[in-house]
Amino acid sequence: MSKIDRYYYGNIFSPETNATLSRIQPLLTPHIPAYVDKFYEVLLSEPASAKFLDNELVEKRLKTSMTEWLKETISPKEEEYISDSIRYHQRVGEVHARVEIPMSLVDAGMTILKGEIFETIIRNQGSTDETAEAVTTLNRLLDSALSLINDSYMRGKVANERSSQEFITVSSAQEVALEIERIKSSIYQWITSTLVSHKFTEGALDESLLKKDFGLWIKHKFPLITTDAMRLTSVQTALEHSEEARAKLALAQSSAEKELASRLTDALQELIWLLTDEANRHLAKESKQDALTSLLERRFLSPILQQETSMAIQGSHGYSVIMIDLDHFKRINDLYGHQAGDIVLKLVSKLIKEKIRLTDYAFRFGGEEILVVAPELENDDAIKLAERIREDIEHLFIELPDCRHVKVTASLGVATFFGHPDYQRLLNDADTKLYEAKRAGRNCVRY
Ligand code: GH3
Ligand code: MG
Ligand code: MG
Repeated sequence: MSKIDRYYYGNIFSPETNATLSRIQPLLTPHIPAYVDKFYEVLLSEPASAKFLDNELVEKRLKTSMTEWLKETISPKEEEYISDSIRYHQRVGEVHARVEIPMSLVDAGMTILKGEIFETIIRNQGSTDETAEAVTTLNRLLDSALSLINDSYMRGKVANERSSQEFITVSSAQEVALEIERIKSSIYQWITSTLVSHKFTEGALDESLLKKDFGLWIKHKFPLITTDAMRLTSVQTALEHSEEARAKLALAQSSAEKELASRLTDALQELIWLLTDEANRHLAKESKQDALTSLLERRFLSPILQQETSMAIQGSHGYSVIMIDLDHFKRINDLYGHQAGDIVLKLVSKLIKEKIRLTDYAFRFGGEEILVVAPELENDDAIKLAERIREDIEHLFIELPDCRHVKVTASLGVATFFGHPDYQRLLNDADTKLYEAKRAGRNCVRY
């Protein structure tokens, strides 16, 4: 924490201020739940904020945190507690940054709160000197708490934007191009199997393109790969046009079918062209990029989880995360040496990357901890995926350069988005499950 924060915030809590707060606290405390209700009632009536504050979420979580925060903020504080209090406000700012609630909303909320609090004081005490003192003190206090929240919010936001930008520049050109090739071939395959060979066979056109691997990839990954906003829109539009044509075609009678089929093929051709061009751009930009990165670095986790969380809140689909930790990895290092440990880790990572869908991400979360993020994967399917990964790791045949063989197992924790806007909660959940898997004897999945 900076000296300045300590100085300004710390200075507020003089003996006089603490005395004022002690005097006013019993008057305000019973009203806190009503202040909080009012706060969210006003914010939720604004369409701009309603988007961030789902009603149920407000009921369940935000009101509790807000009540706690307000109680804590208006309480008198002794010198030794100031640093903790500053850290508390800063954490609130960090959470808001992760959740991407615009700071202007928090500012607006603060104005509402202040209005309510001041009204209570004036109603109870009239226009006395004590009232003036209480209002001035609380005004200063709430302003400086808000400024601590604001500062850490901005720091969090800048850090997130930086890693999101870096994600784009660090992804190797070959890797992006390769992935685009796989997406293109998946689209071609769909065209061939649905439109060409089995033209209009029963049910062939029934599944939404948005649910196909390429549809999911365009929705979730493409926004993080391309640096060109126009390109992003054209690709998404091409996919939407394809999907509209597909939906119409699925319902169409034979007379119109030919026309619709050709429109669909055109739209998909457009999509393929856009993707080819994107791949070429990446290749042209960085020709000297070397080896493919095996797993994503942890610093790219934040922009991805933020995107998935905000898509999940706005749409109807959640996402799942799988936390994987190798069992007794220290023993492997001790028995076979660190180099062998590295080989094991590399092979396990490769296996996981092969197991997950193209839409999913695999991060190196810690030393030998791997985190899989799976957009639009329901809990059941995530558990199945985790179980398959566990089984494959168990059966992995690892031969060391000196011809010795190593066996390894992993413990896995699965968690699925449950509505909380702070993705850290989901990670904590997965971590708790992983810990349960370890305690249950390792080499198992917990969810
Ligand atoms: P547990 O089953 O409880 O997970 O036991 P563990 O031995 O795997 O314990 P833990 O996960 O706490 O420790 C992981 C160890 O993995 C610590 C470190 O020695 C080793 N490790 C972490 N990263 C690497 C790496 O990149 N290479 C190698 N060779 N070893 C690593
Ligand atoms: Mg381990
Ligand atoms: Mg570990």
